[in-house]
Order: sequence, then C-alpha cells, then structure tokens
Amino acid sequence: MERKNCFALYNEEERAQMENTAALYRKFLSDCKTERECVKEIVRQAEEKGYRNMEDVIAEGGSLSEGDKVYRVCMKKAVAMFQIGKKPLTEGMNILGAHIDSPRLDIKQNPLFEDGELAFLDTHYYGGIKKYHYVALPLALHGTIVKKDGTVIDINIGEAEEDPVFCVTDLLIHLAQEQMQKKGAVVVEGEDLNVLIGNEALAGEEKEAVKANMLKLLKEQYDIDEEDFISAEIEAVPAGKARESGFDRSMILSYGQDDRVCAYTSLKAMLEVGETEKTACGLFVDKEEIGSVGATGMESKFFENTVAELMILTGEYSEINLRRALQKSRMLSSDVNAGFDPAYASAFEKKNASFLSQGLVFNKFTGARGKSGSNDANAEYLADLRRIMDDNNVHYQTCELGKVDLGGGGTIAYILALYGMEVIDSGVPVLSMHAPWEVTSKADIYEAEKGYRAFLLYA
Ligand code: MN
Ligand code: MN
Repeated sequence: MERKNCFALYNEEERAQMENTAALYRKFLSDCKTERECVKEIVRQAEEKGYRNMEDVIAEGGSLSEGDKVYRVCMKKAVAMFQIGKKPLTEGMNILGAHIDSPRLDIKQNPLFEDGELAFLDTHYYGGIKKYHYVALPLALHGTIVKKDGTVIDINIGEAEEDPVFCVTDLLIHLAQEQMQKKGAVVVEGEDLNVLIGNEALAGEEKEAVKANMLKLLKEQYDIDEEDFISAEIEAVPAGKARESGFDRSMILSYGQDDRVCAYTSLKAMLEVGETEKTACGLFVDKEEIGSVGATGMESKFFENTVAELMILTGEYSEINLRRALQKSRMLSSDVNAGFDPAYASAFEKKNASFLSQGLVFNKFTGARGKSGSNDANAEYLADLRRIMDDNNVHYQTCELGKVDLGGGGTIAYILALYGMEVIDSGVPVLSMHAPWEVTSKADIYEAEKGYRAFLLYA
C-alpha cells in the first residue's frame, strides 16, 4: 500500500491550520501535566464554548434537547462531555475516548527523609516506565494537598522560569562498572527513585537539620506539615514546556503526549464540530496507564451512570433505552501508537507499522500473544471508517503495535466494547513512547483532529 508523508500533500491553508493546532496543542501540553490539570483545562475550554455542568442542570430541574452541551466531572480526574444530536440517544452516540493520565513518579504518603546531608521525597512510579529514564533530568512537582480541615493546596513547582526544579540523581560513570553490567530493568531500581529536594541545614538543629529546614520551608511557603503528605497527591513529572522539534519544526517533543495528543485533538474536535446528527461525546479518563482501574478509570461505572443521567435530562431514560444507547454507539478509542523507529527496526513489522507524518492511525487490534486481551474491531466498522476518512480528505494509516509476540499493550477499547458497541483504537504515532520526552508529528496531530471531527459528524 502506498502511503505518503502528509507534509508533501498540504496546501498553504492546510499548513496554516496544522500550525495553529500544533501551537494550541503545545500550550495544552505545557499547562496540563496531570489528570487534574487536564480536567480543569478541558472544563475551562468547554465552558467557553457554551458547555454547562450537568450537575447544575440536574439541580435546576432542567432538561436537555438538540444542540445542548453539557459536561460532567468525576472526582476532578475524569470528564465526559456531550453535545446532544438531532437523533435520539437510543440511536447511539459517536464517542471519542482518550486518557489524560501519563507515566510519572508519584510521591509516597510518608515521603520525606534525609541522608548524607540531602533531603529527598520517596516515590512510587506510576505506569510503565524505564526507570533509568527518570534520573538526571529536571523534574517539576505538580499536585494537590488536602489538609484535615478541608483546605486544598494546589502546587506546581518547577515550570516557571524562576522556579526551582528537582531531580533524581544517577551514579557517576567512573564508579558505575558494576551498575553498567546490570540488566536495563534494574540499572536503576524503583525504590531508588528518590527526588532530591534540598541540601541546606537549619541553624541550631542537631539532628536531621536538612530535613528540619525542609519542613520549615514547606510550612512557611505552602503551609504544609509533614503529616499533610498523607492526604496529598503529588506527581514528579519532567519539567519544561513542550517544544517544536527538528530544523523543519515538523515535530513536537514533550512529556505526556501519551495520551494527551489524542485528548487534545478529541477536545478540539468536540468544541469545533458544529451540529451533529448523533449525540457527540468526548470522554477523558484517568488511570489508563495502570489498567483503567478505580473510580476515575474507564472500568468505573462513571460513564454508564452519566449516560443514564443524560437520558433522564433528555426525557429518554429507561433501563432498556440506556442499554440501547450504549450498544448502538460507536467509539474511537483515541490512544497513541508506536511510530516506526529505524533505530529499533527489529521491533516492528514494517508493512503493519505506523509512520510519523503518514496520518491518523487505525489499530484494528492491540493485545499480545495471539491478540490476547485485545478489542478486535469489526471489518464492517473499519469499512465505514475508511469511507468517512476518504470522504473528508483525512490521511490515515493502519498499524499493529510492533512485531507479533514481541510485547503488547492495551487501551480502554475493550471496556466500551463490553456494551456491544463498535470500537476501534485510533490515534497518533509516537516515538519514545512513555519516555520523559516523546516525539509526535504536527501532521499526524492535524490529521487526528480532522479525523475525529469527521467521525463525530458520522450519521
Ligand atoms: Mn495511551
Ligand atoms: Mn501509555
């Protein structure tokens, strides 16, 4: 199959649109490095476009009809947005689902300690990381501390130019003879991922004077006591803004593109789609990187309950109507794919790999060892999607995640498929996926936005 580099196909207007999306996307990435920050920003942008909080509509005893727009937030970490279509909900929705959590280091509940005149915060890594990636690079601390009296302290330290940054140290190469013989998985061990936060001793303090100074600073600057870490969620993430990459500025290098590249393009498609036949839904969930578990992950009943509430507001609710609405829906499980990397060519089967700048990726199945654990999308559904993409001049490619039996991965696709709806994985190819800095192509981001919008218009 012949595929083309999208850049070579664009006219001036398309290039300008692509650059516009890429610039907005970079800002989204730089501002939103945690699921909570993503939810805040998604809600802000949605409200700007006329979306209302579903809880407010319920509280007012209101109702919803064609063209109305609502969102509902789950525990500040997931959000679903809906734009009511012309057709009844029982005819199904067009759903774009992405995840807004990314791999990182989570600060433990009792994290603070001193050793060798240095103060550290102990961490437990979140999601699939190569642990050696997280040493010797600047880290920022993002998170929320909730005090016993209910006071909420949001922190974001290490992103502003004048902010301090943090790091996990590495062993100097001169003394690393033994370390360098170790397997990659244990070169740096999980328990050793401690974030260095200070070195100054507090005058007049005999024991653990650096830790004492740290506690004094935390109290003065943020009103945080040591016990407050118990009720805190603080994430150590790579510090710094998303950047353009390459002499040609064709790519974006940033933390957290899995899966905020699909979240952002899905959001933009939702906000700019205009009138739709079917109800359009954007779903932004947490915890995908650790198996979609918990109240804010895709496996939670949040989405189903929210669709039930939505149907009450449109006057369509009954148990069977809810089942019908879900079963007749179609979904793009919007998640990233492994882009072909010539440095690791042996991990890919080239005919069925995705390439940077060849457009939106459709991934019929994921899984591992004989497609195990995968949602295998139906040929009929793929045929519909091919037609929709071609009719809307969306450049797309198909792929499989690497060579057979080499590994594998999952997405949220199989969970929505449980309702009996048509689901397929669809997203953007990424280089260095799950590394602190991931690479995407501006062209693929633009094609994803176009493809997602075309999908929402699917009658
Ligand atoms: Mn993902
Ligand atoms: Mn991932």
